[in-house]
Amino acid sequence: MTYHFIDTHCHVHFQAYKEDMDAIVARSLESGVGMITVGTQSSTSKNGLALAEKYDGVWCTIGLHPNHLHAQSFVDEDEAPNVNPPPAMGELEGALIKTRAERFDPDYYRELAKHPKVVAIGEFGLDYYRLPPNVDLDHMKADQAEAVRAQLAFATEVNKPVVIHCRDAHADQIVLLNEEIANGGLARRGVIHCFTGTVEEAAAYNEIGFLVSITGIVTFAKNLQEVVRQIPLSQMMIETDSPYLTPAPNRGKRNEPANVADVAAKIAELHGITVDEVARVTTANAVKLFDLR
Ligand SMILES: [Zn+2]
Ligand SMILES: [Zn+2]
Repeated sequence: MTYHFIDTHCHVHFQAYKEDMDAIVARSLESGVGMITVGTQSSTSKNGLALAEKYDGVWCTIGLHPNHLHAQSFVDEDEAPNVNPPPAMGELEGALIKTRAERFDPDYYRELAKHPKVVAIGEFGLDYYRLPPNVDLDHMKADQAEAVRAQLAFATEVNKPVVIHCRDAHADQIVLLNEEIANGGLARRGVIHCFTGTVEEAAAYNEIGFLVSITGIVTFAKNLQEVVRQIPLSQMMIETDSPYLTPAPNRGKRNEPANVADVAAKIAELHGITVDEVARVTTANAVKLFDLR
């Protein structure tokens, strides 16, 4: 089966879909949108794989997001894993107030990575935007770099591409990627997801063989529109990051993979080409990078 679009980054296995996950997935697949569910910690990595196993046209990634390295209280309930049966109320309240700190455990992820539906390692990376309380900046940066190095090495070991989450940290992020590449690693390279950097940063990633992926932010942020206009389609993929970042015209509502069509429509407008052309090229880029089958 071929898909018109691939939503290369979504979290349809999160708590935000606990009432209607299967209906959302079915609606997307029926509208010709395949999807990659992205893990952010041990639980969501495992649950994403369970969902991917269930459907043709759904694949998954596994990894540890930088926001889960330290106990934090910002966490929104959308991100709790969609588990059945749902956690007891007491447990859930605990999860809402505070995230557990996790460390990347290669043994745990190695077991999951054996499954053919696991198409990449991530999302992981550097995030200097969200500072956990009671952790100093240098300490946080060191912990993040350590988790990035561990997951880059792991991706090299299992020979899968990486999905990088990077916020306010592109200069340091590219140094870490180059370090692993210089060691002969990352043969399959990867993608910088939810790219919101500059034209120069996109070019620097493309230079080392990385793609960038564009979210619904492009439908409403003028500065990103200017950047996306200048990024070649051959170096681009599209995503929703559902349940977050809903594109216009549905801003304010919960996002879902089918809305990746709105991202594609805006890119088509910016590049002066048809939506079908955006679909053809970005889907081919995703199939190639993630070896989707
Ligand atoms: Zn992210
Ligand atoms: Zn994400």
